[in-house]
Amino acid sequence: MTMRPLNLTLMNLSDLDPQSIYLTLAMLALLTGGVLGLMHRGLMADVQPAAVLWRIGTLLLAFAAVFFAFRGELPQTPSVLVGNTLAMLGTALYAHALRRFFGGNTAAWLYGLVALGVVVLALSLTVFPLYRARVIVASGIMATHMIAAAYWVYRDGQRELEISGRMMTGVLLFCGGIVGARAISAPFLPPPTHDNPGLINVLGGMVGAIFPVVCTTAFLMMATERSRIRLLRAAVTDELTGLPNRRALTAEAKRGLAQIQGGTQLGLILLDIDHFKSINDTHGHDIGDKALLHIAGLLRQGVQGIAMAGRFGGEEFLVVLPGANLDTTIAMAESLCAALRATPLNLPDLSLPITASFGVSMVRANDDAIDRALARADAALYRAKSSGRNRVAVQAD
Ligand code: GH3
Ligand code: MG
Ligand code: MG
Repeated sequence: MTMRPLNLTLMNLSDLDPQSIYLTLAMLALLTGGVLGLMHRGLMADVQPAAVLWRIGTLLLAFAAVFFAFRGELPQTPSVLVGNTLAMLGTALYAHALRRFFGGNTAAWLYGLVALGVVVLALSLTVFPLYRARVIVASGIMATHMIAAAYWVYRDGQRELEISGRMMTGVLLFCGGIVGARAISAPFLPPPTHDNPGLINVLGGMVGAIFPVVCTTAFLMMATERSRIRLLRAAVTDELTGLPNRRALTAEAKRGLAQIQGGTQLGLILLDIDHFKSINDTHGHDIGDKALLHIAGLLRQGVQGIAMAGRFGGEEFLVVLPGANLDTTIAMAESLCAALRATPLNLPDLSLPITASFGVSMVRANDDAIDRALARADAALYRAKSSGRNRVAVQAD
């Protein structure tokens, strides 16, 4: 039996010609842009405008790579001018998209730089043929876009994103640094020749070609990270008031309960707006919602840094005070009750006094869950209601 010889040809890296690299990376850029397009409807509504800008940017950068790939075969003036214009517009759109991603407005100077670049490029191809001027202007403008975008992502991303913002900042700084180095070094280096292209030009070309692929991946990560963080936050937030919701309050109380076994205490304050139904009935549901927002604001302010106040459901709120004893819990309830009493809801043509009734209870070490402490707070609240409302009542024993 004869075996066929294994005929493997290892591709030598130096055999790769720039044209194939540019074309392959242009295809990859188009593919990642296509993935972004397929994902479009799954993106959060506020990411979609940025994603549209990003896809146009990717398309332009891919076309720029095609122009650069066929640079040798096309007439010089139009190919250099069109290729660089597409590339500069592409980086401007990326920077614009990232600004928009964080809700910023259009920075017109991004496109102003492109217009300036086109004029200088056109002149340096016709009136004064200067290769160096072209490199300085085109690379300098693209590097400026990348570094400005890196700054915006760094500034706004750290508030909101974790990994993806840092990755985007890093990629932009790296690419911006190399493209910028190409612009800065151009006056001091000889123009590239076929045999001696010069390291910085090769690097600059490579970076320019991989830039859309890597950055689009980072952009996709930013979009998905934003969705993940928003969904996680939505799961523990009350939609109307923005306060922690019942799930978050229960979790906080459970955490506090676990610490009680370690010796500290945990106070609960349950409060219910007085005659809320009549506010809705008299002034309408919208004013009812404004009243809920008003109370939420006062509670947030009143417990800031000390306790967690959240919407337990309907027009009921719960304050969880980890580490508080009965006296401090009562004091907090009294101060919140007084704050509500003293602060009417002021609307343009209406000043609406809104009060609430409060029930205070302490979670005990032998409570195996917070339900029993909640029931005691609810019983106290019922007494506050039945004894005249607008007051604090404390658990019976
Ligand atoms: P009491 O002083 O005994 O608490 O009287 P009340 O009218 O506040 O009590 P009741 O439980 O009868 O009314 C609660 C009302 O809260 C009924 C419901 O329509 C209203 N409500 C619950 N959630 C919302 C909301 O999100 N927005 C608005 N506007 N109203 C709500
Ligand atoms: Mg109620
Ligand atoms: Mg009520």
